[in-house]
Amino acid sequence: MTTRSEAVETPCPYLGTGYDPRSAAGRLESLTDREREVLLLLGTGLGNRQLAQELGIADRTVKAHIANIVCKIGQETRTQAAIVSALAHDVLCDDPSCTRHQVAASDRHRGSAVA
Ligand SMILES: [Zn+2]
Repeated sequence: MTTRSEAVETPCPYLGTGYDPRSAAGRLESLTDREREVLLLLGTGLGNRQLAQELGIADRTVKAHIANIVCKIGQETRTQAAIVSALAHDVLCDDPSCTRHQVAASDRHRGSAVA
């Protein structure tokens, strides 16, 4: 029978990749205001068509923004950029009433060594 302490010793496959999407957070300052907005929306998991509707721009403009963002923050795919967005929401989002900030604040408190 497997005990709980044995289960905890299983190496985390996430850490095994040597890749940490949080490392991209330091590159977010290179983004324009519009790119930050696109990246925030990308973190919701919406597709290009829905992003275009939200932003009131053409699909191809969304694609161009995302290509620039992926490059600027040192990622290879939009999926990686979306993960960065989700993890760095509190860095990207300026809205003090955003409910995601309250969640992020408690995360930040727990993981203060990360920054
Ligand atoms: Zn927010």
